Amino acid sequence: MSTRQYTHFINGRFEREAASYVDRTSPASGELVARFASGQVADMDRAVAAARAAFDHGPWPQMSGMQRTEILNKFADLVEKNFDRLVRIEVEEVGKPIRFAKGDIAGCVGLIRYAASLAMQMSGTTYTNLGSNKTALLMREPVGVVALITPWNFPALILMQKVPFALAAGCAVVVKPSEFTSGSAFELAALATEAGVPDGVFNVVSGKGSVIGQSLTEHADVDFISFTGSTRIGQTVIEASAKHIVKTSLELGGKSANIVFADADLDAAVDGALMGVFFNNGECCVSGSRLFVQSSIADDFVRRVSERAALLKVGNPFDDDTDIGAMIDSKHLSKVMSLVDTGLTEGAKLLTGGNVVENSAGNFVQPTIFDHVTPSMTIFQEEIFGPVLSVTRFDTLDEVIELANNSIYGLSNYVWSKNIDTVMTISRRLKSGWVQANTIIDGAPQLPLTGVKGSGFGYEMGQAGFEEFTQIKTLFLHTGPREPVFAK
Ligand code: NDP
Repeated sequence: MSTRQYTHFINGRFEREAASYVDRTSPASGELVARFASGQVADMDRAVAAARAAFDHGPWPQMSGMQRTEILNKFADLVEKNFDRLVRIEVEEVGKPIRFAKGDIAGCVGLIRYAASLAMQMSGTTYTNLGSNKTALLMREPVGVVALITPWNFPALILMQKVPFALAAGCAVVVKPSEFTSGSAFELAALATEAGVPDGVFNVVSGKGSVIGQSLTEHADVDFISFTGSTRIGQTVIEASAKHIVKTSLELGGKSANIVFADADLDAAVDGALMGVFFNNGECCVSGSRLFVQSSIADDFVRRVSERAALLKVGNPFDDDTDIGAMIDSKHLSKVMSLVDTGLTEGAKLLTGGNVVENSAGNFVQPTIFDHVTPSMTIFQEEIFGPVLSVTRFDTLDEVIELANNSIYGLSNYVWSKNIDTVMTISRRLKSGWVQANTIIDGAPQLPLTGVKGSGFGYEMGQAGFEEFTQIKTLFLHTGPREPVFAK
């Protein structure tokens, strides 16, 4: 595949040219793979104006749910048809192993089809119990023009956790993808348009978050901001949204606990420990990056995880059997390695890894495991976003709940036990939007994702995620003669 070049996608078409471009080199090979238009505030203004016009005067919000369902299903068909191309773009730009990129694009298709079905179910509530001459209609309407800002770790998948749900509700969107990985957003916008999504409903502007992301979140014509990214930028988004009092939804960072009790299926839990931290290069918001193991099984369990980790294949993400690909860029690689150094300095015990992969063209880190990590250590608290696991041992249920909840984040947590009492008790007491038992980083389009504490608020996916893109208008209707209030 030759180098792809993208101009902004505004009002149903790629613009003829851009003033300047951002080059994207593959983090695995160092080769130039794509060039994205480097947007300025004026580009974002044009995109928001297109979305505003499409929402206020265009056909999309006025269409029946059935029509939107049909178009979204055609969109899903086109994504399936372009499966290999989209997979390749994700591997080239992100550096993730191809088998995970295939899972991402298959996931996109499922999300679009599920969201398509919701377009037909958009409904409100009627109150007929307010008195014989009073009726209230709670009418569900699209929220309007939506700003969607996405990170680089799942460029297509996270975008599809948002866009089809917004479109199903009748909204128009302006997307600001990560400057590292904008390719799939452009491709998906073009495919949606080919499927029949009207001009101006799905716009994409690429470039720097500090310039165009900021201008999008401060824009007077945006009705809702849906942001996925770091907690630090999430705080910036909240500040920007205050300017025009705009509704926001924030999916932010995480430092999830993966808790293994002695009575678990330990073979499954060993695989779960590896999946928890090495899936998607460890660049995953819902990583189970803090492993808690019950003391009675800890020595043996941790040895098994560590031995298996050392055998994982790190390298060319296009190889079918690669387990861990490249870190997104050299700056991020340095951040990961600096946290590994901090782990050593603060006294955690390194079991395996701890280095970059030498003699390679890309940003590769060895799968790394630290044992005897305590809550006061930086690697226990800070999101590393790389293939680095910290292990902490525990004895009792109460102790591990306290350890797991000792975090500024609250996105997801995992528990492995065959005892339903243990699973239910711990699930209810863990402070996170998501808990999974005897599985890890699992999901389905029907199931909403949300965070608590520093992991944000608002829902993505599921009925709740769909409703984020809607609002309720209350119509209170009085029929027949009305008793005067000021009768005299
Ligand atoms: P960032 O927060 O750095 O960036 C996210 C997006 O925001 C990017 O498109 C970025 O643009 C943009 N941005 C940067 N500055 C601003 C600004 N001032 N105003 C508006 N937008 C801005 O996150 P990363 O891309 O580094 O992604 C990693 C983070 O995302 C991790 O913390 C991870 O946990 C979190 N995440 C959360 C998920 C969840 O569902 N909770 C899922 C996946 C990731 P650009 O990069 O182009 O400059």
